[in-house]
Amino acid sequence: MSNLKAVRGTRDLLPPETALWNRIEATARRVFARYNFGEIRTPIFEDTALFSRSVGEETDIVSKEMYTFEDRARAQSEKTVSLTLRPENTAGVVRAYIEHKLGETGQLQKVYYIGPQFRRERPQKGRYRQFSQIGAEVIGPPPAGSESPIRDAEVLEMLATLLDELGISGWTLEINSVGSAADRARYNEVLRTALVSVAPGMCPDCQRRAVTNPLRVLDCKVPEDQPIIETLPKIVDSLDEASKAHFAAVLAALDAAQVPYTRNYRLVRGLDYYTRTTFEFTHGGLGAQNALLGGGRYDGLSEAIGGPKAPGIGFAMGEDRLVLTLQALEAAAQQKVDAYIAPLGENLNPAALALARELRRAGLSIDLGDGSFRLKKSFESADKTARRMVILGEDELQSGILTVKTFATGLQSKVNRAELATYLSTPASE
Ligand code: ATP
Ligand code: MG
Repeated sequence: MSNLKAVRGTRDLLPPETALWNRIEATARRVFARYNFGEIRTPIFEDTALFSRSVGEETDIVSKEMYTFEDRARAQSEKTVSLTLRPENTAGVVRAYIEHKLGETGQLQKVYYIGPQFRRERPQKGRYRQFSQIGAEVIGPPPAGSESPIRDAEVLEMLATLLDELGISGWTLEINSVGSAADRARYNEVLRTALVSVAPGMCPDCQRRAVTNPLRVLDCKVPEDQPIIETLPKIVDSLDEASKAHFAAVLAALDAAQVPYTRNYRLVRGLDYYTRTTFEFTHGGLGAQNALLGGGRYDGLSEAIGGPKAPGIGFAMGEDRLVLTLQALEAAAQQKVDAYIAPLGENLNPAALALARELRRAGLSIDLGDGSFRLKKSFESADKTARRMVILGEDELQSGILTVKTFATGLQSKVNRAELATYLSTPASE
């Protein structure tokens, strides 16, 4: 056997797993199109300076994780340049926005991308050296209103919808505001001062960050440092009125759209370019690498890389982690019965038993409820033991059209009794 293997931190994706990747990508494209996002494809490698200026010299990505190489001149007319495999895609998108003068259209630019990114990290479950991100960005010149809080809320609402349509239930949205560049500078000083006395008791990375980039201390994952970090001043207390109002407007719009969130005062994210809103969606099924996606606002990024003023907001989802989450949910779902039948009222118990018999004889696994249960109780029991719930009321019995709820997607459908067995035997995430 050859001793040539896929490089550490990279993987081959084989069928049938690739079908799941394709399904995720197709769902993302479909959802993004409904929000009027178009696809952008930027090069896999870029000038190294693009990442050091945007992501930031002091970040883990730029300081230790990039695949950087010298591209030697091949002719007198060429110069030797330093190139880097992209570790993330926002910098490339904003570079393209500037290069193609997309701001001159005066319109909001709404783009999404799907593709590989490269970081030299310690490989482990959910963390690879080549991984795939699905991301989207909303950028525009000031008259287009890209700085408006409605854009932040719309992007977050889109993500909630996408995760639901992918069949990823049980996610948590954590949100924070890191303020304007001036707010961050002010907070950095507050933090630097607060760290003077406590940093010597922290990990070596934090001791360094306390001097070079205090904000990064909040990102520290070392367990022993956590109680110390909890006592540090919060960034919300350093926000100016405009940033406070912006954040309040984002949260109000999320409330109106019924997108649930949790505020996390420590969420500052690993990249330097973020301003104001920052967020992360996490999922319990992922273990240590629990972040499904991260994102935020980057109002000064374009200017930082020599472009015009172009506020923006975006996110990047780890596609590898979406796959892992879906596989874990699918494995959990396999432990469940195909459906739970909930009769609405005791008089419907006999009809429910007849329906259960019919479905069981068709080879399905069925749990049968009891018409004396309240609907809420039936929902709770069904969610624990079954992939789907079939509601059988008087109307359903008469019409032969049953209401079926699929727990993984939250979808409720009307299904003809004659097609019920076939419907219940399709995977719950489709
Ligand atoms: P983490 O805290 O997990 O290292 P991050 O803050 O570095 O994430 P971002 O740079 O914001 O993450 O990237 C967005 C998403 O891309 C992450 O939430 C994660 O799902 C995914 N991701 C990041 N790095 C990797 C990696 N090395 N392998 C797989 N997925 C990754
Ligand atoms: Mg990381």
